[in-house]
Amino acid sequence: MKYSAGGDKERERLIAEGRRVQAEMQKSYRERALKMYPWVCGKCGRDFSGKRVQELTVHHRDLNHDNNPPDGSNWELLCIYCHDNEHQRDQEADRLGGVAAGQGQVLDAKHNPFAALADLVKGKK
Ligand SMILES: [Zn+2]
Ligand SMILES: [Zn+2]
Repeated sequence: MKYSAGGDKERERLIAEGRRVQAEMQKSYRERALKMYPWVCGKCGRDFSGKRVQELTVHHRDLNHDNNPPDGSNWELLCIYCHDNEHQRDQEADRLGGVAAGQGQVLDAKHNPFAALADLVKGKK
């Protein structure tokens, strides 16, 4: 077997490559969804055409980000506020239907990247 002396470097390169591919995939499903659907929030109906499209996000109806069917049936375009709400509602449902009381940390247990994003945008106003 050949052993590559730059093993660590190679591994770092592969990890970076993996991250790049993942980022690209996320970008591409967003782009595909934006091509497929009108640039309008599926919940509040606000129009996000033009520059504001940055505030429009792709929600996965079944919450599985790896489920990206080519017909777009798992995607829904939501503005960051409604997207945030949508996930909070899911968390709420989990909590209410979930195990037991006394688990006040449950809400924090699931990482919600959109909460921070929404705060960021609000703060900019
Ligand atoms: Zn909305
Ligand atoms: Zn979502």
